[in-house]
Amino acid sequence: MTPAPQPEPPPSVVRELILTGPPLKLALPDVCARCGQPATKRLYWEKVIASYDSDSGYSHEVVASRAPFCRPCLEQHEREIRRMPLWKQLLQMFRSRLMFSAVLAGIATTIAAIQLVPNPVTAQWSDVIMFAGITGFFALISLGSLLGAWRSTRAHRVPPLTTIAGSFSFSDDLSEMFEGERHRYVIVNDVFFEALLAANRDKVWKPGSERARRASRLRTALYVAGGVAVAVILLWDWIQPWVRVEW
Ligand SMILES: [Zn+2]
Repeated sequence: MTPAPQPEPPPSVVRELILTGPPLKLALPDVCARCGQPATKRLYWEKVIASYDSDSGYSHEVVASRAPFCRPCLEQHEREIRRMPLWKQLLQMFRSRLMFSAVLAGIATTIAAIQLVPNPVTAQWSDVIMFAGITGFFALISLGSLLGAWRSTRAHRVPPLTTIAGSFSFSDDLSEMFEGERHRYVIVNDVFFEALLAANRDKVWKPGSERARRASRLRTALYVAGGVAVAVILLWDWIQPWVRVEW
């Protein structure tokens, strides 16, 4: 068997494009995002980004990406990708505090099941109901906690980016209020850049467009309305005698 040809290294010039709408809704050309050759398949992958929320502080968020690639680039991706074995993925769940209640409720389920198991000869219906109720109650808590722990540790199970998946990336949502979602795309291949641009010309963000100006006017109107509301609250004692309604 002849070895698969190595994908061409990407040119060193990285180009950027700002497109409106969610990344997974882009029109994708049939051009490899890494080398510019005709693409055979679209690759779906996930990556972890750090996000900040004023309530919960820094956290990790998993975002999905999709881009077309040619066969040699996809083979390279498969050679590079380091997927976590299932036992390691399961161990990651212990990063969540929910595993504490999962384990405790699991122990309670086992003890309840052993202690309350009805004797098939002498058992009453009430014994069976008590066995099913108490054991089921703890089992549900344990299962719910396991599910929560699995979900909350998702970011720790995402494999690191390969050079192939890393050749097409996008930023967080850059939009301001009322503008609609938009992202900055970083593209390493010129041919793919031109093809992506041609397929999404209607989505190219123009800072001076009517949409941008309308969003800016709406924001100004909102700030003015907010300012008036704050002024009314602050000056209420002074305004009140003027607007008092006699009942
Ligand atoms: Zn390729």
